[in-house]
Amino acid sequence: MCYAIPGKVVEIKDNIVTVDYFGEKRKAKNDFYKLSAGDYIYAQGGFVVQRVSRQEAKEILKTWEELFFKLQQTDLRLAQKPKDLRQIANSVRQKELGNSCCVHGILEFSNYCRNDCLYCGLRNSNSSLTRYRMDIDEIVAAADIAVRKLKFKALVLQSGEDPWYDGKKLIEIIKRIRKKSPALLILSIGEREAGLYEKLYKAGARGALLRFETSNPALYKKMRPGHNPKERLDLINRLHDIGYLIMTGFLIGLPGQTQEDLLKDIQLTGSLGTDMFSFGPFIPHPQTPLADSPSPSIEETLDAIARTRIMSPESRILVTTSLETLDKEDGLRQGLLSGGNSLMINVTPKKYRRLYDIYPDRAGTDADIKERIDSVVKLLYSIGRAPTDIGLGIQS
Ligand code: SAH
Ligand code: SF4
Repeated sequence: MCYAIPGKVVEIKDNIVTVDYFGEKRKAKNDFYKLSAGDYIYAQGGFVVQRVSRQEAKEILKTWEELFFKLQQTDLRLAQKPKDLRQIANSVRQKELGNSCCVHGILEFSNYCRNDCLYCGLRNSNSSLTRYRMDIDEIVAAADIAVRKLKFKALVLQSGEDPWYDGKKLIEIIKRIRKKSPALLILSIGEREAGLYEKLYKAGARGALLRFETSNPALYKKMRPGHNPKERLDLINRLHDIGYLIMTGFLIGLPGQTQEDLLKDIQLTGSLGTDMFSFGPFIPHPQTPLADSPSPSIEETLDAIARTRIMSPESRILVTTSLETLDKEDGLRQGLLSGGNSLMINVTPKKYRRLYDIYPDRAGTDADIKERIDSVVKLLYSIGRAPTDIGLGIQS
């Protein structure tokens, strides 16, 4: 479960600990620490990711207690008497999962990509893009700011499919981040060998974000030249077997996608042992073959979130930056009120952010990270959600 309020360990059985949060008990897997009953920890995605001193935990919990119950009341009020599909989805989310919202950081460390996906601005054939790679020290330093300064408890490390980062480099990155700035580390590095993913799991990574993009095999082959859907699905299954938390999903509104495809996309996501649904609208990029294809409407995306919530009541559903990009004023709030309960904040150093040009004019690209966190926390409080993956909301 996605609580980043410190929890008190109340029971330990092998590597499974029972953790108490204001009287609610959750289980988490402990791969990294020596713990005893009475210790305080942060858990993310079902893993213990950080230890916290008893004194610090008690101070944090004191601030949270009153606020937490107040937020729950607001959330409950907004979820009452649902009238349409999206409101029903919001009410299902409230009943099944309460008001906890995951706020993950995302660090985009390279925009080099060996692939040529028709929809993506990072595609290898886009020669007008200035490419960058962060070196190991830079990545470790940026992760440290995200985890220790900005208090993120889960961090996505994302890039194009860039073999310049070989096993040795990636293992060093994971080990150094785990040691210096412990958090749930989620890889989003594309299709790399299962053996490499296994080594990265051993080094300390615990999540994998790899979308299958579309459940329609013919559309997949057209959109991702030289690739076949079975290989990607096999890899997602392997990652699940290794023990990774799986975050997967699809693109909404790819040219040629039918309503039936979309329903199958939702079904397929649910069948992959998925911990977090990640799907968002396609946004055309001018330097790609799909430059003239339109985005889907925001309504279509919100309805997909709502349907997913109703079909998989207990899932975590990400409100993507691409949805926010379609409606910068209100997309995030609407996504969260249509069944969504997770979001990501970009923690890439500002000088690189604009170059990670998957699609144009991404929401949050020019924002100062602290201001962005503040505005997200404010929004979450206004709709009664506890931003339980970051600590900033309780520092003020
Ligand atoms: N290279 C890795 C991770 C980075 S791309 C991979 O492909 O898995 C992350 C996601 O960006 C992709 O899974 C794709 O669904 C999304 N994406 C790419 N181009 C997009 C576009 N034009 N509009 C919206 N999302 C896009
Ligand atoms: Fe590369 Fe990922 Fe973009 Fe495809 S979607 S071109 S794999 S960055």
